[in-house]
Amino acid sequence: MVQTQLIDGKAFAAKLLLEIGAEVAVLREAHGLQPGLAVVLVGEDPASQVYVRSKAKQTVAAGMRSFEHKLPADIAQGELIALVARLNADPAVHGILVQLPLPGGLNAEAVIACIDPDKDVDGLHVVNAGRLAAGLPGLVPCTPLGCLLLLQDVLPAMSGLEAVVVGRSALVGKPIAQLLLQQNCTVTMAHSRSKNLPELCRRADILVAAVGRAEMIQGDWIKPGATVIDVGINRVPGAEGKTKLVGDVAFAQAQGVAGLITPVPGGVGPMTIACLLRNTVTAARRQAGLNR
Ligand code: NDP
Repeated sequence: MVQTQLIDGKAFAAKLLLEIGAEVAVLREAHGLQPGLAVVLVGEDPASQVYVRSKAKQTVAAGMRSFEHKLPADIAQGELIALVARLNADPAVHGILVQLPLPGGLNAEAVIACIDPDKDVDGLHVVNAGRLAAGLPGLVPCTPLGCLLLLQDVLPAMSGLEAVVVGRSALVGKPIAQLLLQQNCTVTMAHSRSKNLPELCRRADILVAAVGRAEMIQGDWIKPGATVIDVGINRVPGAEGKTKLVGDVAFAQAQGVAGLITPVPGGVGPMTIACLLRNTVTAARRQAGLNR
């Protein structure tokens, strides 16, 4: 039986935020550069409001400038795009994030396409997807970047390992697969049409689950000793009529099989905002002609 260890994303993210704060302090002191992040929230979606508040708070805590733009749900697409254009032109804004999902009637793809790719700290612009695929420097989506940083911390030598990524979204699965390929892993991407999914998963030295289906990946789909990154966040019924969060991996079953695993919550989740701030610093440095 394998002794399963937890990958503590919360502690790692806290450490990363401290490092980002220290880097921002140096940028301000030595270069007079204060990275700025603009977050655009359209409508009243409660979950999005919580995310945006949390992003703004952590941005300020890291010594950066936070610009919040709250717009009504019935705003015209043209007005939203005009705001993005103003933020593109604003030298105090180094990163722009349009909180998704957008209310019905607005075309998220068209809005994202208007963000300056060098300020696209969510890494969702097709130019950044293209740069990632081509192995060029760009801005990488935050959650996949967080997964990579956690993996690099626990597996310094990933070269030649078999990686299986379950899920192929543009936001999570595809960029993670690209990042693992850059680490010289042998990467398989699985999705809803994949055959023999349990068998595919059992090949993985690194198994990344980004599906959005509660505890779909069973213990016997995991190769003994594998490193498991569970990106899934699923709300399911819990005790006493409450709900609880679980990942895409049956966590209890993975105990004693996986070598290392990210818990849900407390694994990948906390890395996302930390990587958003990291991307903002990266964007600010590049816009100022400083290396990164
Ligand atoms: P999407 O719904 O966009 O993509 C889900 C992917 O899973 C698709 O590629 C789909 O395949 C695949 N899939 C669905 N059902 C199955 C199945 N039965 N077998 C194999 N593959 C399947 O989700 P996201 O990528 O946006 O998010 C995935 C999970 O990660 C969600 O739980 C989400 O909440 C979480 N998440 C967490 C974040 C964080 O930690 N901060 C950030 C972003 C997401 P197909 O393409 O064939 O339809």
